[in-house]
Amino acid sequence: MSVIKTPNKPRIAVHKFSSCDGCQLALLNLGEPLLTLAELVEIIHFAEAGPVEPDAEIDIAFVEGSITTPDEKERIQRVRANSRYLITIGACATAGGLQALRNNANASDWMAAVYPSPEFIDTLSTSTAIAEHVRVDFELWGCPINSQQIVAVVRALLFGVTPVKENDSLCMECKRQGNVCVLVTQQQACMGPVTQTGCGALCPSFGRDCYGCYGPKENANADSLSQRFQGFGLMPKEIARRFLLINNHAPAFAEAGQKAIEAEHD
Ligand code: SF4
Ligand code: SF4
Ligand code: SF4
Repeated sequence: MSVIKTPNKPRIAVHKFSSCDGCQLALLNLGEPLLTLAELVEIIHFAEAGPVEPDAEIDIAFVEGSITTPDEKERIQRVRANSRYLITIGACATAGGLQALRNNANASDWMAAVYPSPEFIDTLSTSTAIAEHVRVDFELWGCPINSQQIVAVVRALLFGVTPVKENDSLCMECKRQGNVCVLVTQQQACMGPVTQTGCGALCPSFGRDCYGCYGPKENANADSLSQRFQGFGLMPKEIARRFLLINNHAPAFAEAGQKAIEAEHD
């Protein structure tokens, strides 16, 4: 990535696709740092915060949400064409989100079961990550993201430094904080060993297991963790649920979940 050189402040947009808005809220919840950010950049489009100019040309586009409707499939192409850098924020945008559970089911059957008039719903049969449709320059994981990550990415781009991708497992962060391991001491099915860092080891810090909302770490050994869960007495279906949750469409978790489902039928 190159430094952003512009006589004016860099222009930023925050776009929403299929999502719960939680990652945008995480950005709004920044508080004082958001005011500092607003001094460094010009926020052109951020419907949740006020400015609306979705088709403007901008320097950095933050994209929340997955591609779940025909309209979104077209709109993401326009966002890409108008943006110098495109950065996905959150599990929905980076891995399809919870709604990607539909990828392993029949979406039409579900709609017919839930809605009285499903014929009025215009949707795709899948929910997919932004990177499956356009080039993505950087990904921020989490459900929701840690808002400090956005500030760090913007700072890096403003100073011409490539944003740092965190590759550690959550366990590394958890250990650095001196937490008592809930997997070892309480046999809780903690996803920390296969989950990437970034949240500050939030859940184990409060004595509960991680459920993998930051997505798979690099070279995650999901087979080994599945065996450990089996040793705790978890049934294949329960193991599948651990992996097929918020980041169910991320390849490492999808594969581990699928293996557990197959074991259930053996
Ligand atoms: S990643 Fe989570 S918090 Fe963010 S938009 Fe998706 S569901 Fe909401
Ligand atoms: S509690 Fe979870 S994240 Fe923390 S060290 Fe144990 S397994 Fe890893
Ligand atoms: S500990 Fe795990 S589930 Fe909890 S916020 Fe962090 S990544 Fe998400």
